[in-house]
Amino acid sequence: MARQGARISLILALVFPTIICAAVALAYYGYRYAVNASSRSKASLMEGNQQLAELLIDQIQSRIDQVDFELFQQVEWDGQAETSASMELSPGVESFVVLDENLRIRTLHPPVPDLRRRKLEMDRWQNYVKGLEWKSLKPWTPDQAGNFRHLHQLFEGKSVLIGYASKQTAAGEHYYVAAKLNLPLIAKEWIPEEADGLAHKRRIVILDEVARSIVGQPLSASDTPFLYEASFGKTLYAWRIQITPRDVEELKAQAETERLLGVLLIPVSMVIIAVGLGVVWLTIRAERRASRLKSDFIANVSHELKTPLSLIRMFGELLATGKHKGEAMAREYAGIITRESERLSHLIDNVLDFARLERGKASYSFAEGRLEEVVERALDVCRYRLEKEKIRIRTEIEPDLPLVRMDQDAMTLVLLNLVDNAVKYGAARGQVTVKLGRVPGGLALSVRDRGAGIAVAEQERIFERFYRASNARARNVRGSGIGLSLVKHIAEAHGGWVSIESKPGHGSTFTVFIPAAPVAAAGVEERPGATAGAGAGALVGDPERAALDPVKS
Ligand code: ADP
Repeated sequence: MARQGARISLILALVFPTIICAAVALAYYGYRYAVNASSRSKASLMEGNQQLAELLIDQIQSRIDQVDFELFQQVEWDGQAETSASMELSPGVESFVVLDENLRIRTLHPPVPDLRRRKLEMDRWQNYVKGLEWKSLKPWTPDQAGNFRHLHQLFEGKSVLIGYASKQTAAGEHYYVAAKLNLPLIAKEWIPEEADGLAHKRRIVILDEVARSIVGQPLSASDTPFLYEASFGKTLYAWRIQITPRDVEELKAQAETERLLGVLLIPVSMVIIAVGLGVVWLTIRAERRASRLKSDFIANVSHELKTPLSLIRMFGELLATGKHKGEAMAREYAGIITRESERLSHLIDNVLDFARLERGKASYSFAEGRLEEVVERALDVCRYRLEKEKIRIRTEIEPDLPLVRMDQDAMTLVLLNLVDNAVKYGAARGQVTVKLGRVPGGLALSVRDRGAGIAVAEQERIFERFYRASNARARNVRGSGIGLSLVKHIAEAHGGWVSIESKPGHGSTFTVFIPAAPVAAAGVEERPGATAGAGAGALVGDPERAALDPVKS
């Protein structure tokens, strides 16, 4: 038993830390996974934003390039004329100029007939072309895309986009073409057109050089968690594009839930595991205690059986072989055999009843009857033993007691157990008082001895199955530890209860309350199975019933 207990402890000592370590590792990796998953989903969202921005930029850029390309192809200069022939401009181009080798504006298109306005426009163009990097341009050819450049910047507070290319006359003279693109058209029509086809679940905002929104509603601070922002490509490089999902609030809530789940995962799973392990540990402890008590019980019962049996055998043999001196001694031997067989049958009754109770099959046959008669009969049974043990018995039974609903055999067992204990644990040659009296609601049967009593700390536990208090163990008193648990069960099955009042050194009084017959049915229903423990003078069962205890005032 001890070896098995040690083995179980060793297994637990290995298994519990292993489970805790595994749980901690699982919770940790679960948390890491949740955090990674949330940052992965954010990254993929941001990647989606970026791809969308690049696509939109590409599409706008290629529309601009297309307009530039067509213009540069169309414009031909012979190196002579001041103005070009009248030509149809694409809506994407506001105006263009042709500059000679010395960067003098030779042509302005569309022409401005009003001289003052023409001068103004020419001055503006002078301003624009100042910043252009002509030298870096390769001569324009229609088959080689990209040999033109763009300038995008603020002039007089307005955003201006200039596309420019270097060309050659038929005579091989260099000249330049610079076109001013129609930015309002690009912002108001081209970008929305392209964006409509691309972004359903996203908001697109284009900011100009001074961060004014020229496409889309400006974003608020709450839109920033999933915001992608970049320059609007290589052409409209002074502008910025911002892209954010439309359902930012939903995504933020989702991310927060994921984060919370990840963070809560550790403590919650740890608590669950700790509680689970605690429950397992308590169950194992209770089971171990029960199995220890059971093996004690088996040892006690075997011992209890063995002693009377060997006495019966010994005195039976003495009688059978005639090895006794006279009639008186033979009667004494026969008395011993009777007493021991009574003890034996009492023990067997207890064990059988207890076994039925343990299997949940204890059944009682209730009938109305007089408890005083049952008490008298039970006392007759033990009178012989009491006389032998030189114990005086005092009975105080009130007259005209009400009927009670009871199982007479069970009530006999109650009294036999209480008297048996009073004899076993009471003072040698002492006195046992059995009282039966009326109390509010029923009858109280009490058995009092003048023995050593029971320590307060143990009073609650003596009603547990197999429990034997230190007085029994120390004095090596024979017993099985099931008597009082049977008494308690029987009392409760009758709708009553059992209480103990004991002071170490001053004896003990056990009181069993049984409801009177008319109250009994209601009493059973109202107070099913009172079981709680008791301290010194406390009740086993409902504390309210203390008032009914006749032993105490
Ligand atoms: P047992 O077979 O050991 O007597 P019980 O269930 O009848 O089992 O009693 C449980 C324990 O309660 C006993 O072992 C004993 O320690 C204690 N006990 C019972 N009755 C008395 C009493 N009258 N005086 C002192 N101790 C008692």
